[in-house]
Parts: sequence; structure tokens; C-alpha cells
Amino acid sequence: MSIVTRFAPSPTGMLHIGGARTALFNYLLAKRHGGQFLLRIEDTDKQRSTQEATQAILDGMAWLGLTPDQAPTYQSEQADRHAECALEMVEHGHAFRCYATPEELQARREEGEAKRTAAKEEGLSEATRDALLAEAKTLLAPYRSPWRDGGDPPRPDAPYTIRLRAPDEDTMTVKDHVQGEVTLQTREIDDLILLRADGSPTYMLAVVVDDHDMGVTHVVRGDDHFRNTFRQLPIYWAMGWNVPEFAHVPMIHGSDGAKLSKRHGALSTLAYRDMGYLPEAMNSYLMRLGWSHGDQEVFTMAEATAVFDLSDINKAPGRLDLEKLGDVNAHFIRMIDESRLLDLVAPEIAKLTDVTNTLTERLQQALPTLKERGQTLPELAESCRFLWDSNADNLNKKARKALREDGIKRLSELREALDQSDSWTIEALQDVLEAYCAAHTLTMGQVGPPLRAALTGGLPAPDLAPVMHWLGRNEVLARIGKHLPA
Ligand code: GLU
Repeated sequence: MSIVTRFAPSPTGMLHIGGARTALFNYLLAKRHGGQFLLRIEDTDKQRSTQEATQAILDGMAWLGLTPDQAPTYQSEQADRHAECALEMVEHGHAFRCYATPEELQARREEGEAKRTAAKEEGLSEATRDALLAEAKTLLAPYRSPWRDGGDPPRPDAPYTIRLRAPDEDTMTVKDHVQGEVTLQTREIDDLILLRADGSPTYMLAVVVDDHDMGVTHVVRGDDHFRNTFRQLPIYWAMGWNVPEFAHVPMIHGSDGAKLSKRHGALSTLAYRDMGYLPEAMNSYLMRLGWSHGDQEVFTMAEATAVFDLSDINKAPGRLDLEKLGDVNAHFIRMIDESRLLDLVAPEIAKLTDVTNTLTERLQQALPTLKERGQTLPELAESCRFLWDSNADNLNKKARKALREDGIKRLSELREALDQSDSWTIEALQDVLEAYCAAHTLTMGQVGPPLRAALTGGLPAPDLAPVMHWLGRNEVLARIGKHLPA
């Protein structure tokens, strides 16, 4: 059997990282088995669904490379099909027309609550209290409609909803790849509404019909939907459809163990892009947040696709750890192709300075070394700053100290030596420095600081010979010259 998975977000906001992880798990499962990964936009809630939110979901998935194998399905476009299925269930006696009005149901709930409150009053006999509590329990129990076994409408034109006749068996069991085998008392399931009085389908019906029609074999989603599964199963049974396999994945929690919320940091997937994380780092980090394979910490998509299995999803919620995400990002910054890294970091540098051709050339040469120096793209951009900024007007204390008399004298001599060097390779520049030290019986500890101060003004930078190589002869001589007396 070929596997078909789906990601089924409701377009009511951004693609949050929990959703992105759900999409990722579905993607990996499908790819592992050579199956299909589908996307369904669950836009039945017309009031809350927006075009911008749909676009944000598509953009977030595109950024992560989670490309669906078919054009997305829009749930709202399937409403006729949902209604058709509801009517089929009525025809076969699995669903029925219920004439209870919202007002009656509301009154029933209120009466139940009133009885429960009344039972708390002081001075009641035990028998009275028990009787009140029993009545409250019945009234507040999952609704079983008086029309479930048929019956005439109160008036010929009375409006009705279509409800599923909840199963009569005592218990129901769901076998879930993550949650295990879980049994529920069937009386906890209500005669749920399939079609509202205006004929519109409910979410519970739409999900099942769409999953069936899309040929979904594996439903992988957040465990906030686990209980819904018990309400959805009877719809499969009523339609005589194969039930898919389920995997309900625990939510992502914040570092303090509480459910993820804004105070734990950005929730939107694209916010991580904007903060300078790479999509491969995000994928690697998110998949490990709730899934593991041996003790491997970092995965490329190809590596994960080769080994992904639902049985390796953890039952405990993953905790968002931004420090760890930074480490994973640093790993991928070092790993990816350098020309792509340049393309990614250039827009960050453009926020700080003009990216001239000269600067691009310097970056091309320096990035293989400098890429070790940043966990995110903005950090990396910042650690390249000395390539365009000598920081001469902003010297730190150490740099100022290095540029006092002795330092200036050495700089002046060094400039001379550098100027005379035929070659500007890293090795040649290193030789110039060493030869200068030897000729003046100085150590690198005496020569390095003034030179570094003149070149980078205290900005972080690697070894001097490569720094000079990247900057080029003219720039180096100019930066040094700026500190020498005219
Ligand atoms: N639309 C639901 C949500 O965004 C998901 C439903 C499902 O995966 O079955 O939470």
C-alpha cells in the first residue's frame, strides 16, 4: 500500500512552529515510503480563515522545502461532497435529522448547571443531593438526541441538524502510533452534528470525508486532536470506509515546560527565517523536538527521510531550546555551499553597508573562515564587519593603547615592509610579519596588537595574515596609514 499523508492547517494565523513540525513529520513519513505528502487548507471557518494566513502557511512550507505532491485542497470547496456523505449516513440509519433547537440545548445545559449548583447548597439531605447530582449529570452528559431512533418533526417545516448516531457499544479503542492503545467509554461521545441547520458541514465531518477522499492512509497531527479521533471514527464506520492509522504528536513546550506561548519567543516559522536561521537547521531542530533516531543530533532531510519512523516519536512533549537551535544553525552555516551562504548573508550585510563588488570579493574569500563565527545570519554579517569598516573612529581601549608611541613606530616600519612585499598571499604576508619580528627582535605579541588595532580597530577578526589578504594591499596600507603621522 502506498502511503499518503497530509498536513491540514486551519488558515487562521501564521504557520507556527508546532504546525511546521507536524507538516515535517507527515512529509518525512511519506517520503520514507515513497508515498505522497498532501496539503489541505481547512478553511471551513469562514470568519476566522484569511487569505493572508493561507499565504503565510504556503510561504512557511515553501521556505522549509515541504512541498506537497499535489496542489492544495481547500476544504471549503468540498462542502457539497460533505453534505452528500451526511445524507448517505441518514439513508443508512447511521445519522438522523435532529429537531432540537439551539435554545432547547442551551436550556438543557443551563438546567444541568443549575441542578449542580443547587446540589452544593447547605442543609440538603443526602438523598436530595444525590438526586440533584444525578439529574445534573444526565443533563450535562454528551448529548444523545431524542430523535436518534427516528420520530416526526415537531412541525412539518421545523429546522433540523443532521447528527451522527453515536455508537451503542460500551467502549471504543483507538490504536495510536504515539499514544498507544486508548479506550474510551462510548457514552462520552455525543450524537455529534454533521450538518448544521443551514446545511453547512461541521469540521468533524469535513475532516473525515476529506481524509477519505484524498486517500490519506496516515493521519499525523497534534495530540490536541486525539480526543476528536473518537468522534471521527464512527463517521468512518458509518460510511464503511477504511480507518487510517493515527499518530498524535505531543505539543511543543517552552523551555520551562509550560505550553508554548508568545513569551517563549517567536512562534511563527517565518520569524525564524527573518532572524537568520536556515531552513535546513529549522527542519533538523524541529524534527528532533519530539523524534529521535539513535543518538544522532543533527539530520539533513535526506538522512531523516532514510530512517524516519512513527515509532520513534516521543510520548513526552519536546521543549523549545533556542540555544540548541543556535548550535544546529551554526552547524548548517558551516556545512552549506559557500556561494549559497554568500547569497544568504549578503542581504544581512546590506542592512549594515553597501555591498560593493570589492566587498563581495572580500566576502567570497573570507567566508570559508568567517562562517565559523556566527550562529545566525545577522551574527555572521556582524562578524564580517571588519571587511568594510576599519572602526578607526571608534577604537576600543585596547586598540587605543596599542596605537601609542612604540606601536606607531612599529606600524610605520611594518607598512614599509608590507608595501615592499611582491606577493599578497596569506603565506607571503605571514612571512613578512615573521621577518619583521626577527629583524627587530620583537615577538608577535608586540607587533600584532598595533597592526590589529589599525586594521580592525578592535572589531573581532581572525589571524592577521588572512585578514590582510582579504582586505587587499591598498586597503591595508590605507588603514595603517590613517594612524601614522602625516
Ligand atoms: N485543522 C486542524 C488544525 O489546524 C487540524 C486537523 C487535523 O489535522 O485533523 O489544528
